[in-house]
Amino acid sequence: MSSFDPVAIRRDFPTLDQQVNGKPLVYLDNAATSQKPRAVLDVVNAYYLHDNANVHRGIHELSRRATEAYEEARAKVAGWINAADSSEVVWTRGTTEAINLVAGSWGMDNIHAGDEIVVTVLEHHSNLVPWQLLARRTGAKLRYIEIDDQGRLDLGPLPDLLNERTKLVAVSHISNSLGTVNPVREIAEAAKKVGALVLVDGAQGAVHARVDVQALGVDFYAFSGHKMCGPTGIGALWARRELLESMEPYQGGGEMIEFVERDMSTWAEVPHKFEAGTPNIAGAIGFGAAVDYLATLPADEVAAHERTLMAYAMERLGAIPGLRIYGPESVEERSAVVSFTMGDAHPHDISTILDSEGIAIRAGHHCAQLVMKRYGVSATARASFYLYNTEEEVDRLADSLEVVKGIFG
Ligand code: PLP
Repeated sequence: MSSFDPVAIRRDFPTLDQQVNGKPLVYLDNAATSQKPRAVLDVVNAYYLHDNANVHRGIHELSRRATEAYEEARAKVAGWINAADSSEVVWTRGTTEAINLVAGSWGMDNIHAGDEIVVTVLEHHSNLVPWQLLARRTGAKLRYIEIDDQGRLDLGPLPDLLNERTKLVAVSHISNSLGTVNPVREIAEAAKKVGALVLVDGAQGAVHARVDVQALGVDFYAFSGHKMCGPTGIGALWARRELLESMEPYQGGGEMIEFVERDMSTWAEVPHKFEAGTPNIAGAIGFGAAVDYLATLPADEVAAHERTLMAYAMERLGAIPGLRIYGPESVEERSAVVSFTMGDAHPHDISTILDSEGIAIRAGHHCAQLVMKRYGVSATARASFYLYNTEEEVDRLADSLEVVKGIFG
């Protein structure tokens, strides 16, 4: 008997309890950002109400409290991904900044002309453009893992793609545009054989379940708080301590130094040497609260619930004539995303009509233009699910899509 009740869980999320265009809101844009539980909002509010001070600076009570909460949050987030130590977690603005940090620091020192960076066609622009910029600056070359018709990585050519020139493999854990769950561990094993490092874009990966970065066998893991019940503007980069220690700072400024002389400076300990300037203290504390919240939920039952929702959505949407679903056919190979098109109906029009029914989905290229090109479309409509969504909401989506079908024929 399941103790996880999505209907009860919804009461934790104040935003979900509202009417949009005269209908109860159905929020299915979770891959863009998740809603926030009251537990997170309360913690952020309490920080500003009682403890607001800068961290690691003042020798006074409020600064002590703020610093303690900020570092405790780091330990919680480190625990969520099974980092060996909280010092292996660097706060960033989000996944995008975490990847740019690696490109700007590790990349600029370790990637040279003629080197190769392997990426995949599935990547969000956040895990593509930083590598294009780096390749342009260094004279390195990007090589691609392609996808098959179901949006799964084609690992067949991997032995040819990986060679002694490969310095980095950058791959997403879960595709935001198709929901494909990528075989990251297998890719990491192959990359290790040629001595390449592996960076995982975990923006959609750390969201639905705990991640074990040590077991994955990767070198960098980047993720965002806002997609997993936390605030916007906060995320993290994980890497092993020795690797972080070997890297130059990404930005210079306050907080990241040990001593400053006229001609040179020395750096603070890891992870602080990567955290120049006043950080997003409330955001970090809120991220810690989000992880606390997620940790209270029965992980297996949440996963089962999301899988059931996915299967049901694929079944209901798949039964609408002319609707094409992109991504893996098997629910086991995909996460909580359904991308689709409907004949000649433009995804923006689909989204607009759904909005008039109180249903929020995303339409566009999902920052994954290479995926759109692969399928010869400029955009798709995307419904993405999270733990608080229900089968009734899938029904509302499917019923409204029938209306769209009626309009566009
Ligand atoms: N990578 C993937 C797979 C994503 O889904 C996203 C956000 O949509 C990002 C990277 C970028 O995350 P952020 O905007 O939080 O930096």
